[in-house]
Formats: sequence, C-alpha cells, structure tokens
Amino acid sequence: MSTIEKKSDLHEQMVSWRHHLHQHPELSFKEEITSDYIASVLESHGIEMHRGMAVTGIIATIHGQKKGGVIGLRADMDALPLHEQNEFSHKSVHDGKMHACGHDGHSTMLLGAAVYLKENNDFSGTVHFIFQPAEEGGGGGRVMVEEGIFDKFPCQAVYGMHNFPGIAEGQFAVHDTAVMAANETLKISIIGKGGHAAMPEQCIDPVVIGAQIINALQSVVARNVAPLNSAVVSITMVDAGYASNVIPNEMNLTGSLRYFTKKVGDGVKENIKNIVNGISGSMGATATFESIPNYPATINTPKHADLCAKAAAMVVGNNNVLRSEPPTMGSEDFAFLLNASEGAYIWIGNGLVPEDSPRGGCMLHNTQYDFNDEILPIGSSYWVQLVQNILK
Ligand SMILES: [Zn+2]
Ligand SMILES: [Zn+2]
Repeated sequence: MSTIEKKSDLHEQMVSWRHHLHQHPELSFKEEITSDYIASVLESHGIEMHRGMAVTGIIATIHGQKKGGVIGLRADMDALPLHEQNEFSHKSVHDGKMHACGHDGHSTMLLGAAVYLKENNDFSGTVHFIFQPAEEGGGGGRVMVEEGIFDKFPCQAVYGMHNFPGIAEGQFAVHDTAVMAANETLKISIIGKGGHAAMPEQCIDPVVIGAQIINALQSVVARNVAPLNSAVVSITMVDAGYASNVIPNEMNLTGSLRYFTKKVGDGVKENIKNIVNGISGSMGATATFESIPNYPATINTPKHADLCAKAAAMVVGNNNVLRSEPPTMGSEDFAFLLNASEGAYIWIGNGLVPEDSPRGGCMLHNTQYDFNDEILPIGSSYWVQLVQNILK
C-alpha cells in the first residue's frame, strides 16, 4: 500500500516540482537552478542540508524520533544534451537540453520522501538524502566519493532507484547482484604511411588495416568470451582521411566496451590488444590501444536487494516486484557509491512502451521521453517504506 496516495496534496506538489525541474534541465555539474530549487523545497520544510558536494550536490538529513542506524538514499539531478521534441506545457525551456532520462522524476521522488519523512519521523536513526549531480557521463558519484561523502555522512548502506520504460507502472525490478555493466571507452590508433591514392604500393594504408581490425573485433565476444558471460565491444567512431586521392597516415577508432566482471573485462582487453597489434604488425603498421574506464559495474549486495524487494512489495504487492529481470549492458555511476558502501539499486517501472506511443512510453535518452507523473507517489512511498523497514 502506498504511504503517499495518488492524487494526494503531496502527489500534486510533486507533479509541480517535477514539471519545474523538467522545464529547466541542466547538464552535468551545471545543475545550479536544479540544486537551488531542490534546496528551496527542503528549506521551506525546515530540512537541514549540506550543499556544494561535487559542485552542485545536496545532502539533506532527517533524524528519526529515536537513535538508530544511518542510511543514504540517492537521486540523480542532471539532464542530457538533447533537443526535446515534446509539446506539452512542461517542455524544456533550455534549448538543446532535456530531462530524457527521468532524473527530474528521481529528484522529485526523493524530495517527496524527504518532505513526508520530515513530518512523519517515527523511525529510529538517520536518513541522508543524496541529490547527486552528473550521472550522465560526468561521474558525479565518483566525485562525491572522492570528496568523502561517506566520511562526512557515514552510512551503513546506500540505495538508488532509476525509472525503467518497458516495466509496467506499479512494478519494480530488483536484482540480487549485477544490475548494470561496467563501461570503458576503447581508443585504437593505427599508424601507417600515407601517400598518393594512385600509388598504394608506396604506402601502408591504415584504412584497410582498420577495416580488418573492426571485422576481427567482432569475434572477440563471439569466440573468446564464455557463452554464459556477457560483454559488448562496439566500434562507434571511425576517423581517417581528408581527401579522396590521399591515403592517410593514420586511422583512429573509438568504441565502447561493456562487461560485468573484471576477469571478463581484462580478458576482452587482452584479446583486443592482440588483434590490434597482430593485424597492424602483419601489415607493416604500428598501433596503440587503450581502454579508458568510465563507470564500474553496478552490483547489488543480495542482503540489501532483499530489503529493497521487501519494501517494494509492501507498496505494490509481491507479484509486482520482478526478481528475475536480466541486467542491462548500460551503466550507472551509482556503481561508485556501491563500491564505497554496501547497498542496492533498483528499477521502478515507468510504464509499458506501446509501439505507437510518441510520449511517456518512449525509452530513455529519447527526444520524446517523459517521466511518468503517476509513479511519483509509488517511488516516494517505496523510499518511505524502505526507511521505515530498515530504521525501525
Ligand atoms: Zn541516462
Ligand atoms: Zn539516468
């Protein structure tokens, strides 16, 4: 049962906060209007807070009526560099920026839970509400850990939640261990010898070598990773040449590597290195390869996943808590918080995706996406229930 009812005053307030945040999207580490707005709501409810961690981050704190444990609840605040294609009244007023990942909804659900728990603090212990900047590639979670979030605000566990289009409104998905993959950027440079396009015999053509490498890399996951393990190698940028009649000196390939375990990731990188060096060397070129880590894998602790599933079930019923959804190869900087603390990260259904729906049902990072306002009280009630269950 939802603690915060649909159509309640708090739900209506949450919708207005969410629309305000949606209208004013800001990119990673630039969430100034967003941070000020969240702070103004917290302040108007007399909730204490610490500002400025990881530039725009906010840690708000609520103490229960009795002493007890301490937990952290985290929401992300940043938007994406997309131009919104929706036409509703809360459409982005910042051209080229859009809340296309629902972080406006995440911040709102956490804010709703904070406002509710400030008035209903019949729990034992302390809750830190973490409003985190820069999830979309900036690594705000990493910066918060580097700035000592858990030294300044020690937590026995930290919890995160992301909306997921394709999972029905009123459902949650909870993974026991792996939720999201590790993400690294692959960079390959092939140095050949440029020259006249009509005299290839005088050149070492890096474009031909690069093409062989791209093809050969398709075999890494297919032939070197055990079938029940997971990895992705995608070459996504190819850069070489400047004239139709000139063989360039160099070709640069950029791509994305995803995996869940270090062992698989290390193996894939070793395979890529061997292919890059082997093909380049055999064709007379030299090559460099590096893989730059972005986000580690997001791996839940089973004990905390169970606590999350139990709280979710108390809000939406056991049948609506999916426990066997596969993880995704997407990534999430909550991983940095989970590497520094125990905890778990769950998905809340944003609604099924009808094939003909241009709105609401769209997948994340889509110019017609919108967070579903109907799930605001469900997500906030889950946060409240989690606090009441753990800090009792
Ligand atoms: Zn995103
Ligand atoms: Zn997101």
